[in-house]
Amino acid sequence: MTAPGEILHTGAAEYPGLDEWRRLPISQQPAWQDHPDFQSSVDTLSAKPPLVFAGEVDQLTRRLASVAHGEAFLLQGGDCAETFRGATADRISARVKTILQMAVVLTYGASLPVVKMGRMAGQFAKPRSSDMETRGEVSLPSFRGEIVNGFDFTEQARIPDPKRMVTAYDTSSATLNLVRAFTEGGFADLRAVQQWNKGFTSNPAHAKYESTAAEIDRAVRFMEACGADFEKLRRTEFYSAHEALLLDYERALTRIDSRTGKPYVTSGHFVWIGERTRDLDGAHVDYLSRVQNPLGVKLGPKTTASDVEELVERLDPHRVPGRLTFISRMGAGAVREALPPLIEAARDADSQVVWVTDPMHGNTITAKNGYKTRHFDDVMDEVRGFFEVHRTLGSYPGGLHVEMTGDDVAECLGGSDVVDETAFDDRYESLCDPRLNHKQSLEMAYLVAEALAHP
Ligand code: PEP
Ligand code: MN
Repeated sequence: MTAPGEILHTGAAEYPGLDEWRRLPISQQPAWQDHPDFQSSVDTLSAKPPLVFAGEVDQLTRRLASVAHGEAFLLQGGDCAETFRGATADRISARVKTILQMAVVLTYGASLPVVKMGRMAGQFAKPRSSDMETRGEVSLPSFRGEIVNGFDFTEQARIPDPKRMVTAYDTSSATLNLVRAFTEGGFADLRAVQQWNKGFTSNPAHAKYESTAAEIDRAVRFMEACGADFEKLRRTEFYSAHEALLLDYERALTRIDSRTGKPYVTSGHFVWIGERTRDLDGAHVDYLSRVQNPLGVKLGPKTTASDVEELVERLDPHRVPGRLTFISRMGAGAVREALPPLIEAARDADSQVVWVTDPMHGNTITAKNGYKTRHFDDVMDEVRGFFEVHRTLGSYPGGLHVEMTGDDVAECLGGSDVVDETAFDDRYESLCDPRLNHKQSLEMAYLVAEALAHP
């Protein structure tokens, strides 16, 4: 992630059409334009330096083009919702280490380069199925992520506060700084592959990783003894991604790249449009169609072939490989029927989209004790269904998008070291959706590596 030295003009971008979204239907936004701190918060953000550089963003588009061509695999992972307090060195490093471990398992198991990306350094805004949350007799505005309001179920906390956008920027900046230090400063050196397991509690997935790491270490030392130059292994590219939900924030962080004169969202390298905001005539599709970043769109089980054709037309009119990624989140019961017509529609539209599976969001259930959870077996079944569909159609299963953490939480049920509902009271930490813990994440990486290696 080297900064290629280009300068992005500071200040909110002036570019034809960038404010068109304001005239279109928009959902999932706080009504805070009249808040006394709204304009000053937007002005503050507009004057901030970009979090990512246009050259890095373009490089990611090229990496995703190789995924589109079946020459690499995309791994996206991180919290459902980041929190300001959760941006500590320990937690960020555990998450980055876990993603690096998963990537190593995939690279080694499937002999494919892996494009590594965190749902990190900007994943603060959450779409909600309802505007209000009711507990007993009390109804309050829903929690929309810490970039908008607070999680506590009090009237005060739930009032949207635009200054939170500035805190989200600052937290993203600190997070990305640490991620850059880790991934470029030697921590991600492949020669330290065994170190990444240190500090995690031992369990079957952990032990399996240990033996993979030992094999890699032996191979690396062998090649080194043969005189191979491993300087390149010292650093790794690691990209940031989040849902571009809160358009006041994204607009304020859009900059014009001085090399190309084109607008880029500089809040993260990759941004996606969620299942609830991918309306073809809505503000989100319009705004993101106008920026250069590689884009994702979540596709749920109700997506039609014509939605796919239209999304391709709107977001990737020039059919640039790497520009568009479809993130399928169908549910284990639906993926085998719902996905094939969409892949065919994209193919008929001459699109070279990247297909990614998000096996989390179609498999959410409520546990008997009230917690939102997912069964590891359902999650894995959706991954298998995704691979099966691509095998049948001769298309390429390009990536995996998961909600995960490096911490030893109990939020998803199952796994080889079984998590059950009784653990939720002590180890359920997510403010939003349940994440795979460290072991479950590694276990999933092994299963996916297997599916990639033996299609
Ligand atoms: C998410 O990724 O956390 C999310 C809300 O996803 P989706 O838009 O697929 O429901
Ligand atoms: Mn989620």
